[in-house]
Amino acid sequence: MELLNIKNLALQGKKVFIRCDFNVPMDEFGNITDDRRIRSALATINYCLDQHCAVILASHSGRPKDGVPDPKYSLAPVARRLHQLLKREVVLANDVVGTDAKTKASALKSGEILLLENIRFEAGETKNSPELSKELADMAEFYINDAFGVSHRAHASVEGITKFFDNEHKAAGFLLQKEIEFFDKLVQNPVRPFVAIVGGSKVSGKLEALINLLPKVDKILIGGGMAFTFLKYLGYDIGASLVEDDLVEEAGRIIAEAQKLGVKFYLPIDVIAADRFAEDAVSKIVTAQEIPSGWMGLDIGPATVRLYRTALNDAQTVLWNGPMGVYEMDKFARGSSKIAHFVADSYATTVVGGGDTADLVQRINLDEEMTFISTGGGASLELLEGKILPGVAQLIAEA
Ligand code: AMP
Repeated sequence: MELLNIKNLALQGKKVFIRCDFNVPMDEFGNITDDRRIRSALATINYCLDQHCAVILASHSGRPKDGVPDPKYSLAPVARRLHQLLKREVVLANDVVGTDAKTKASALKSGEILLLENIRFEAGETKNSPELSKELADMAEFYINDAFGVSHRAHASVEGITKFFDNEHKAAGFLLQKEIEFFDKLVQNPVRPFVAIVGGSKVSGKLEALINLLPKVDKILIGGGMAFTFLKYLGYDIGASLVEDDLVEEAGRIIAEAQKLGVKFYLPIDVIAADRFAEDAVSKIVTAQEIPSGWMGLDIGPATVRLYRTALNDAQTVLWNGPMGVYEMDKFARGSSKIAHFVADSYATTVVGGGDTADLVQRINLDEEMTFISTGGGASLELLEGKILPGVAQLIAEA
């Protein structure tokens, strides 16, 4: 798939709108804990600055309640980090398409950088409102999408906005291009056996992805909170573990489909169970069949770790999306950390996708050991399913 290339645009001295993904993890004090996504956008921003552009940056951060500005989700920490990294002044607008943003955008000169406030402070963003898309598009002469992590969403600043620019005035940024090219190659020709490790908490977002991944992979290893929806389907008593009851049947369909396709489907055989969701909880290792009533599984257990290591032995391609346990708490980080080491040590092509998984791999200094760390978890899963992402569809160059 050939994308519209930023290098083909006549950007010199023009005003350019770059949609980035600055949705970075922050600690309880509002400090950025992993600025990979910000650093990944620098190539495109610097390229535009080298072309003497006036640069308008936009991003979402977290999930503020639609349309309600909330200081907790302000992009102020991102503006400060951008300033450090670019060594240039970065002006933060107080709003997205309000008077402040519009005044500052229209006065913006060559070499200056304006960051709009969290784009999700506008209700129209997630609704893909054409009015919002147009207001954003009116701010600049060129549009660049470099927000891979959110390109699977048809949102106003990602999808809607592309319709207001012709092919000479829009393109994919360097990050988006790199991600798309990588996954394109991976889908077309994965070296087998291809193993997907899928964890995390959100079953709902991932079940459809799992169904679509099944025909592409040889093995699937399940971990994290999502495992319990499957274990429940198998009739296990999962205590107070995370579960999505309305998806239990769907989980069963996935197991059946895996069997039909001959995909080896692995579930945890033991877990670290805790009496509550806390770092100082009482915890013990139990088999998946013996989770005490009222307790919750917060990590995969040592037997599962060994099982998954064996399953990974012959892997030639590994895709990992979602932690194996509540890795933010040391006590429940061991499963994820062990799996990270096995993946890093394997001779396979290793691909890590998703903010949390990238974060945990970086915490234990294994990021350099992976073949590719994607800035988008959901987006990379959808690419692997063979979908064309809404934010990319309008940026494909005609053959
Ligand atoms: P996701 O955003 O779906 O990739 O999920 C990531 C989150 O899943 C992390 O914040 C983990 O703490 C959480 N998680 C992983 N395993 C479990 C579990 N067994 N129970 C509850 N939450 C979990």
